[in-house]
Amino acid sequence: MTHETLDAGTKLPAEAIDAIERAATAATHPHEELFSARAANIKQSAVRDVFDISMRPGLVSLAGGNPYLQSLPLEKLGQTAARIIAEDGMTALQYGGGQGTAELRQQVCAIMAAEGIMDAQPENIVITAGSQSAQDVATKVFCNPGDVVLVENPTYVGALNTFEAYQVQVEPIEMDDDGLVPELLEARIAALQSEGKSIKFLYTIPNFNNPSGITLAEARRQQIVDICRKANIIVLEDNPYGLLRFDGHPIAPMRAANPDDVIYLGSFSKIFAPGLRIGWALVPAHLQRRFYLASEAVTLCPPPLNQMLVSAYLRDYDWQGQVETYRGLYAERCNALLSALDEYMPAGVSWTRPDGGFFVWVTLPEAVDTYPLLKKAIDAGVVFIPGAAFSPADGPSNKLRLAFSAVPPDTIAEGVRRLAPVLAEAIKA
Ligand code: PMP
Repeated sequence: MTHETLDAGTKLPAEAIDAIERAATAATHPHEELFSARAANIKQSAVRDVFDISMRPGLVSLAGGNPYLQSLPLEKLGQTAARIIAEDGMTALQYGGGQGTAELRQQVCAIMAAEGIMDAQPENIVITAGSQSAQDVATKVFCNPGDVVLVENPTYVGALNTFEAYQVQVEPIEMDDDGLVPELLEARIAALQSEGKSIKFLYTIPNFNNPSGITLAEARRQQIVDICRKANIIVLEDNPYGLLRFDGHPIAPMRAANPDDVIYLGSFSKIFAPGLRIGWALVPAHLQRRFYLASEAVTLCPPPLNQMLVSAYLRDYDWQGQVETYRGLYAERCNALLSALDEYMPAGVSWTRPDGGFFVWVTLPEAVDTYPLLKKAIDAGVVFIPGAAFSPADGPSNKLRLAFSAVPPDTIAEGVRRLAPVLAEAIKA
């Protein structure tokens, strides 16, 4: 990285912070009063703002959790897409069924079997525009304004944005190194129910949580489903990273032994490519029809061409080999990040050591707020996401998220080298 590009990078901070704060100060206009209360609740995502800025040359971005797509066989995929249109264009470019193609739903069952869900039936699967749209559909199906959704603290910012848009009360439950703490979950459910609150579901990312990288221990999984079942709460299990475990065996998803209590969300975004916007929900049979109708009401149908391309990829390519490639690549990058943190971080900073996925979660001393440090980090040529983005509660956070998925190992080390003095200074202050 040259000094010229770094200098160009130093012009960015004001712009970066402006972009993040614009949401709060949007100009008023005559149609302002027409907005629904729901729309007012939809927040600009700090992650997406930082994401745009972090694309600028000269900055090392440890911000965006983008998958690394360079290892995909792009030319061959292009030929496959062209062949699908040439040979089957009348289907690929036409409206399709609202639930998704039968072939893809069948194939998705085999993917889930690789992680331990052996009984999935194609008729209980709804293909969606990624896990994101499945989260939206689930919230639409279950939640009235004021209902409660339980989440891990911290949790995926896109899910928080969805829940908040439906005006639900999002209740964060603390995690420890083994994930969501069952006793805290049980106590919070009891407290909320005794206040007369209607709790609809627990949203959980059991494998390599975004943003913390923490995995929910095997012993806790059934315990958590049992607590929810007893309280008549559905579990929404979001598992986009499960196959990206660096080593060891996959831990069975909560859905595996609990077909009636868990809605399981899967995605091709991390094991293939996010731009196709294809994911799925495996829905308990008694909930399937509502879920499918709600999904159809949003998109009419998932995109047939994209589904056919994913199906061809699963059928004709070595998709497991590609997942292996991704796993090796992400493991190497994660190691590079952890080694650089070991080498450069000042005393008082700690971090998680994930077994898979894309993220490491860094904790600073309690008194340090990481949000104002973002500007200083951008000045120093590195970008991260401040921890506050991943919690429904307003207020400062002494955490930050580092993503290693999209950055080569050497650049990761350089990013941490730039970040270290910014953190050291904040700790000293
Ligand atoms: N869930 C989690 C936990 C994620 O981290 C992400 C994306 N970063 C999503 C869902 C969205 O995935 P998709 O592309 O399938 O909508």
